[in-house]
Formats: sequence, C-alpha cells, structure tokens
Amino acid sequence: MSTVQDLGVCRQCREESAVTLFNTRTSEEHILCAYCGYTIDIHLERDEDGSLVKNEEGKYILNADTLGGFGVAKYHGERGGTLVTLDDNSEETIQLHLEQINSPTVDKESSYLTVYRDGELEFIIGNKEEVLYT
Ligand SMILES: [Zn+2]
Repeated sequence: MSTVQDLGVCRQCREESAVTLFNTRTSEEHILCAYCGYTIDIHLERDEDGSLVKNEEGKYILNADTLGGFGVAKYHGERGGTLVTLDDNSEETIQLHLEQINSPTVDKESSYLTVYRDGELEFIIGNKEEVLYT
C-alpha cells in the first residue's frame, strides 16, 4: 500500500474531522472534511494527454486546489454510508438534501446534514459523530 490515511483538524471549521489520503509514492494528497466538506486536493500536474509535467529542474509539479466547504450530507442506508459535499449553502440545496435524508431508504438516525455559513458549522440534522475513515 502506498496510501496513508490520517485524521486531522480541518483548516476551515477547526473540527477534528479532516480525512487525509496521502500517496507516499507520488506525494499526492486528498483532504476532505467530513463535517463541512472543505476539500484540499494536491495533485501532480498533468498535460492534456494525462502525462506528468516536469519543471525546469526536472521535478514533477504539485498543484493544490481547494473546493467546497459549504457543508455535507452523510447518508446512511442499507448499503453503508455515503458522504456528499454540498455545492453551495443555499436554502434550495439544503432543502434538496433534507428531502433525500427523509427518504425511506435512508437511516435518518445515523445520517447527518450540515451547513457551513459565515464561519459557523451548523448541524441541521444529526450530531457530531466520531469521524471514521472512509
Ligand atoms: Zn471542516
């Protein structure tokens, strides 16, 4: 295995809920917060053909993208759990996930819905549960 998993403090919501996947071979890293959805994706630069790009010193280039962080919906059902990051923190988006969490195939007791807005993390449904490695 060349991938290491770790749990750390989220840079956005400051909760201990950021799951890190680190590839020791490529140094690529994917960090996803299971509470607020804040994502940091550190990846090797590739060209249009998918080949790795090197810089002038002949070294591979790592780029970092940050995404999301508007909240998450964690759905627990018969087939396990799914974590979905919210595209935005609008009322429409929250309503959409509220409807899905209330559907019969979702175990509402073990699911949760959060929104991150104005620097605050709010649990709309559910409570902070221990974050487990995905
Ligand atoms: Zn977070």
